[in-house]
Amino acid sequence: MAGRSRLLFVLGVFVFTFPFAVLLYVFLSAVGYGTMICLLGSLLLAALTVAAALLSAGTLGHGGRPLFFFFLRTSFWALKILERPLRLRPFDPERMVVEMNNVFMEKHWPSSRADGILLLIPHCLQNHVCTHRLTFDIDACERCGRCPVGELLELRDRFGVKMAVATGGTAARRILRDVRPDMVVAVACPRDLSLGILDAHPVPAWGQLNEWPEGPCFDTWVDTDEVARGLSVFAR
Ligand code: SF4
Repeated sequence: MAGRSRLLFVLGVFVFTFPFAVLLYVFLSAVGYGTMICLLGSLLLAALTVAAALLSAGTLGHGGRPLFFFFLRTSFWALKILERPLRLRPFDPERMVVEMNNVFMEKHWPSSRADGILLLIPHCLQNHVCTHRLTFDIDACERCGRCPVGELLELRDRFGVKMAVATGGTAARRILRDVRPDMVVAVACPRDLSLGILDAHPVPAWGQLNEWPEGPCFDTWVDTDEVARGLSVFAR
């Protein structure tokens, strides 16, 4: 899947570059260059842009993150606009953002102090029969095992990170404003997680997608081993 995300990232960057390559072709042709030079000029522009995007994602290190995010954002929106004509699978652009960002973070981002890390989870992880109001007091959870919130609280305690429940994108932004974490480890659906990662920038984020055994937004689940792996990469 990481290979597919990388391909989609490149495709999105190429789609974004295409109008500029066409403009360059028209400009070169208007100033009198022949078809071959115009074509080569346009191809060179596209190739250099894709190379810059791949460099920012791979070898520039964490100093290249602003450039990487510029390309990540443009690639995402280019794929979203052409999702249907390109016959992409559902949530391909969103998964591309999450996976490219996670690979970048794991490779380049230095670890953070544990108490500066916020573990942010969606309220749809809470089992629908549970009556505790976790958005006000997450410790109201009795860790009964009916949903993954109890295990996530155990991870919070084990790693010494902060934890909060968000009821949606607006609530997540408010929590980030209030807590001002050094880094976010987030669990969410493809849409919320990809937009959250892009919105949170420059605050670094690493994300784990939730699972939908009962369909979207209802009694969702998460692989807590993967969340533990993410925390062990970044928490010191
Ligand atoms: S683990 Fe916590 S949040 Fe989940 S159902 Fe049990 S008490 Fe409620």
